[in-house]
Amino acid sequence: MFIFRQLFDQQSSTYTYLLGDSESAEAILIDPVFEQVRRDKALMAELGLTLIATLDTHVHADHVTGAARLRQSLGSKIAVAEASGAKGADLYLKHGDRVRFGCRYVAARATPGHTSGCMTYVLDNEEMAFTGDTLLVRGCGRTDFQQGSPQNMYQSVHTQIFTLPDECLLYPAHDYQGRTVTSVGEEEHHNPRLGGALSESDFAGYMCNLNLPHPKQIDVAVPANLKCGASEDTQPLVEPDWAPVAFTFGGVWEVQPGWLEEHPGKVQVLDVREAEEFDGPLGHIEDAILVPLGELTQRMSELDKTRPVIAVCRAGGRSAHATMILQKAGFEKVANLAGGMLRWRAEGHAVQGGAD
Ligand code: FE
Repeated sequence: MFIFRQLFDQQSSTYTYLLGDSESAEAILIDPVFEQVRRDKALMAELGLTLIATLDTHVHADHVTGAARLRQSLGSKIAVAEASGAKGADLYLKHGDRVRFGCRYVAARATPGHTSGCMTYVLDNEEMAFTGDTLLVRGCGRTDFQQGSPQNMYQSVHTQIFTLPDECLLYPAHDYQGRTVTSVGEEEHHNPRLGGALSESDFAGYMCNLNLPHPKQIDVAVPANLKCGASEDTQPLVEPDWAPVAFTFGGVWEVQPGWLEEHPGKVQVLDVREAEEFDGPLGHIEDAILVPLGELTQRMSELDKTRPVIAVCRAGGRSAHATMILQKAGFEKVANLAGGMLRWRAEGHAVQGGAD
């Protein structure tokens, strides 16, 4: 089965795309964002996918790529266009090259214009294409820096993108108005810069008069991206060292019951159930501090901010929420007990009170 996810970075309005093949469990990421590596790793772990490569559509000026951070953390290969000028990649793509994941692949099409090294990645069956900043939903990337050229962009869009089937879905690298996807047929008709009867000189006239501001991130992002995101300012992902915690796609740090059982006294166990549950048939963990979720905000001072906290409830839902409340309040070492008391009991860990 083909697996597809569209992910969004709010800071830069960048879309990252996960493409996977469930049989081989291999996946690729198109345009990963440096700050979102933890999120992307969590999603791939939960879907059981192994990242084999990251592909950047171009040297971005508005965010740093997550390519190097992902390679450092997961061993994935970095693929960029040879024409991008970026150093430190594993695969330098030329027009027509394919990047495989399982039994699927994307084919690279050179689509210069926004930058001289822009690539559009087309899925093997031509049902989807990832256009980077070459073609956006009812728009296109700017052409006024990074060797941009309106003439090249016009040719790229008309010869490499509009030649795909009308139904082919087009996924851009950005959208600033909440639009997520378009199609070849739609853009051919309705793109206000490149569609309909607009000529190359109409387009060049449009693009040369945009008067856009200098991008805020360009002085940081471009030098970093020319090294595939592996510059002095872009540190590897630091994992918490106080416990073997794992980050979930739901946004919560989790610890496994076995670790807690083996490290009594190292953490504060915060039980956020109601009093009758705490004293009920599931019992509770030794030395657990009972603060029902509804009272947590008022009673936070009962916890020591300098020591780690592991939150627990019946099945792990309320306690996940509790970890978020604590993190917002400035607690740095917080995790949810995976599976709650139900899993704790099912795995045979010790409790106080409770019924057999
Ligand atoms: Fe760009």
